[in-house]
Amino acid sequence: MPSFNPPIRVLMGPGPSDIHPRVLAAMARPCIGHLDPVFQALMEDMKDLLRYAFRTKNRLTMPASGPGSVGMETCFVNLVEPGDTVIVCQNGVFGGRMKENVERCGATCVLIADEWGKGVDIAKVKKAIADNAKVKAIAFVHAETSTGARSDAEAICKLAQEKGILTIVDAVTSLGGIPLEVDAWGIDAIYSGSQKCLSCAPGLSPVSFSARAEQVIKQRNRKVQSWFMDMSLVMNYWEAQGGARTYHHTAPVNGLYGLHESLVMLKEEGLENSWARHKKNHLALRAGIEAMGLEFLVAENERLPQLNSIKVPAGVDEALVRKRLLADYNLEIGAGLGALAGKVLRIGLMGASSTPNHVTLCLSALESVLPMAGAKIKAGVALPAARAVLFPN
Ligand SMILES: *Cc1c(COP(=O)(O)O)cnc(C)c1O
Repeated sequence: MPSFNPPIRVLMGPGPSDIHPRVLAAMARPCIGHLDPVFQALMEDMKDLLRYAFRTKNRLTMPASGPGSVGMETCFVNLVEPGDTVIVCQNGVFGGRMKENVERCGATCVLIADEWGKGVDIAKVKKAIADNAKVKAIAFVHAETSTGARSDAEAICKLAQEKGILTIVDAVTSLGGIPLEVDAWGIDAIYSGSQKCLSCAPGLSPVSFSARAEQVIKQRNRKVQSWFMDMSLVMNYWEAQGGARTYHHTAPVNGLYGLHESLVMLKEEGLENSWARHKKNHLALRAGIEAMGLEFLVAENERLPQLNSIKVPAGVDEALVRKRLLADYNLEIGAGLGALAGKVLRIGLMGASSTPNHVTLCLSALESVLPMAGAKIKAGVALPAARAVLFPN
């Protein structure tokens, strides 16, 4: 049996994104014990780096061992108990998973449904708060990766705070890619993922809880249903409160090296510079896409720079487009999910995959492949349009 040698792809789908060689190199360093004093120093750095990325002073800030879905579940199982009522805003695939989480915690879910491709409707949130007594939490997705729509997290959190309602925010795709202010917006529980705009290997999920959320966890009526995700146990490992750190589960040591390196790189670049880079590359891609005659799914004011949903023109075989991009150019882009299957192509410009080279490769590859799949596009105009944004002088 030979070793497994994956091809070198260019990852421009909904995640994972390209991993910077510095991050891959960090992951290949020697494994040490997860209670080694040297490793404990990395854990402390990691918490500070995550506080920087989340813009928070929250003490309870650390990476959960597992993909974004584990971060999601960590937030729900710790804060939601049987008998609670939780408002879930759904405008894509991931809001649907939040509803699943609420129900599996034995709580009642009040679902606010919005059209896929739009942000959460603030008026509906207001109404749901007014119509339901004793709402414990509101949960929503900041950046819906399944559609490419951004919701107004600040406005939703403000409504929740006015009523003393907790907020649970999915920032898997937003962290590092668009402005996100955990403390300034008053977010109580937030989770992200390592493989989207942080451009690390999949399998880690940064989480953070406010002091208020921490209080709610401490005052629970019953034990958290999940032993693995119970924050009160996990913290015995991630925090040395007065005593020694103790074993909870074996931390994914090399994965954490990688996340550490990707956060160091984010800090070197500067968070605001990262947001600006994501925006600029998105505007360049958009210029090229629109010059070809294609359209975006999401209205301009709610578009995510890091996830671009392009409408598939009638009669075009979108599966063939993706197949040829992968086979001919080693370029991966995403298909539509759920209600949008077959209707959109999803182009990710996340983290290390948000560069002028990625935009240029993607536009030129699309221009060569789309006509084979039956699309009538304008040729020869996409790259100059993108270049005018990327290199205006
Ligand atoms: C990718 C993603 C998730 C799930 O993350 P996994 O690492 O696949 O478990 C959750 N929410 C959003 C918005 C995502 O984009």
